[in-house]
Amino acid sequence: MDVIRKSDAVRRQANLSDYDQLSASFRWTDAERLLDGLAGDKLNISYEAVDRHVVHGRGERIAIRWMSKDGARRDISYADLQRETNRFANVLKGLGVAKGDRVYTLLGRVPDLYVAALGTLKCGAVFCPMFSAFGPEPVRARMEIGGARVLVTSQSLYRKKVASWRGELKGLDAVLLIDAGAKAEAGTHDLATLMAEAEPRFSIVATDPEDMALLHFTSGTTGRPKGAVHVHRAVVAHHMTGRLALDLHPDDVFWCTADPGWVTGTSYGIISPLTNGVTMIVDEAEFDAGRWYSILESEKVNVWYTAPTAIRMLMKAGPELAKAHDLSRLRFMASVGEPLNPEAVTWGNRTFGMPFHDNWWQTETGGIMIANYASMDVKPGSMGKPLPGIAAGIVERHGDTVREVSRPMTIGQLALKSGWPSMMRAYLHEEARYAKCFVGDWYLSGDLAMRDEDGYYWFVGRDDDVIKSAGHLIGPFEVESALMEHPAVAEAAVIGVPDETIGEVVKAFVALKPGRQESDALMLELLGHARKRLGPAVAPKEIAFRSNLPKTRSGKIMRRLLKARELGLPEGDISTLESDEK
Ligand code: ATP
Ligand code: MG
Repeated sequence: MDVIRKSDAVRRQANLSDYDQLSASFRWTDAERLLDGLAGDKLNISYEAVDRHVVHGRGERIAIRWMSKDGARRDISYADLQRETNRFANVLKGLGVAKGDRVYTLLGRVPDLYVAALGTLKCGAVFCPMFSAFGPEPVRARMEIGGARVLVTSQSLYRKKVASWRGELKGLDAVLLIDAGAKAEAGTHDLATLMAEAEPRFSIVATDPEDMALLHFTSGTTGRPKGAVHVHRAVVAHHMTGRLALDLHPDDVFWCTADPGWVTGTSYGIISPLTNGVTMIVDEAEFDAGRWYSILESEKVNVWYTAPTAIRMLMKAGPELAKAHDLSRLRFMASVGEPLNPEAVTWGNRTFGMPFHDNWWQTETGGIMIANYASMDVKPGSMGKPLPGIAAGIVERHGDTVREVSRPMTIGQLALKSGWPSMMRAYLHEEARYAKCFVGDWYLSGDLAMRDEDGYYWFVGRDDDVIKSAGHLIGPFEVESALMEHPAVAEAAVIGVPDETIGEVVKAFVALKPGRQESDALMLELLGHARKRLGPAVAPKEIAFRSNLPKTRSGKIMRRLLKARELGLPEGDISTLESDEK
């Protein structure tokens, strides 16, 4: 496999130019000093993201460039954002919202969402974003678990998803509609009216660094979503990892394509870019290859953070579309959320002249933990190395103890030593589930990985997804990546199907690129290709074609659902399921 090397020029301009040196000297307390903080050792995410820039004379810089679905554009400067978030905080205060109260949003990617997020934090309340495409049940469940006091949403989302059960949710004091106008229905408020009446000045609530700030539900890829609790101190990691892993420079235009309904869209679609003082692009519309390339070109995006599922769709659309655009301002491209197949990394390199930089983290970790950073030579298929300040390891669990695996390329649990600022502080109301994640000072991620002799980490699969076949431990990622190399394959998902003799047999589900026809001949060709690449013990024994693979709304392939359907078992929690085909 070819390593993608970085030039000296690229290395020099990177924020993280000397990994070994910074890793040896790094202290989170130093990182904290890059931020202002509030008097008396207090800290508030929103002050660091918004007000700090105004205080330091950068208020006129554009914070958010919003692109509406229908092509309109709105620029919001840091000074505008300060005023708007102050107003929102005053609205909450006027409604009696107190420190620690939970403020939920159920909104598309519209400016009100960003104002609500940051205004909530200023007020000392806890921000909990929900994805606007959730159905009524997932919305209700999340609001019940978190004890919602306020909901910010739109008229139509409210009618469709909340109105019918709203009366049963005790404690939900206020529903703010962003578009109700004069005719806000009973029991709701028109947010615009309240905002117009509110003062543009607000004295930010002096939150303690350990005060709860964010409640994020996990993607639900492996089961019922968990509510991960994060505190204001997390901003130290959001800020630092934006600098180191995404290489954000203050003059950058940055685009994180994730929706704030997921942790990536909040940590790196709101907090990290703003604390780093960049201009961030927010696109209201859903994925569209042509639209995305046009935005990259017209907005002169420098740093782009996206996800494997989107990259695979761009690959499906073909490199010609990319090449028809002037993307010369792009300096760094990163990906998160799922394993990024080597094929996607090298496709990026061929098409854009730079690789996609994969990085790994979870809702629980709050921020990027392992990354291919800008100055680093990229080994396609590897997640990169732990960031400075992050101690990672590959461990084996033995009852109540863990042992680090030191032999290179040995599969074990990917674990992290506790102690970075954005680590979750709890799974809300699920103490036992939370406690199970820790052994001694290790946090066990639930993912399996390997580390090579150069210290690069390689994702193998989720603990639940790994296949045990005839004494081999097979990671679905390896098999899927091999299938992805075949020119007909757009996406692949691999599961283990129970088998009396060998434990489990490997079965692959494959979606083809446009213009490719399913056929027995193609199936045999794919089986042969996989056998050649992986050997008979690891290659799939069976391949089924699908026009679509089941995914979460954040774009992750739900292997557990393919497996449940294959075995005729209950589907479990499918509240986050998006595209589907039985
Ligand atoms: P749930 O915990 O509810 O099952 P989830 O784990 O998908 O859902 P997230 O916290 O959004 O919820 O996702 C984190 C997980 O996504 C990681 O534990 C890992 O399995 C996967 N992941 C994220 N980034 C990468 C990556 N770069 N390579 C491989 N896997 C990744
Ligand atoms: Mg998880």
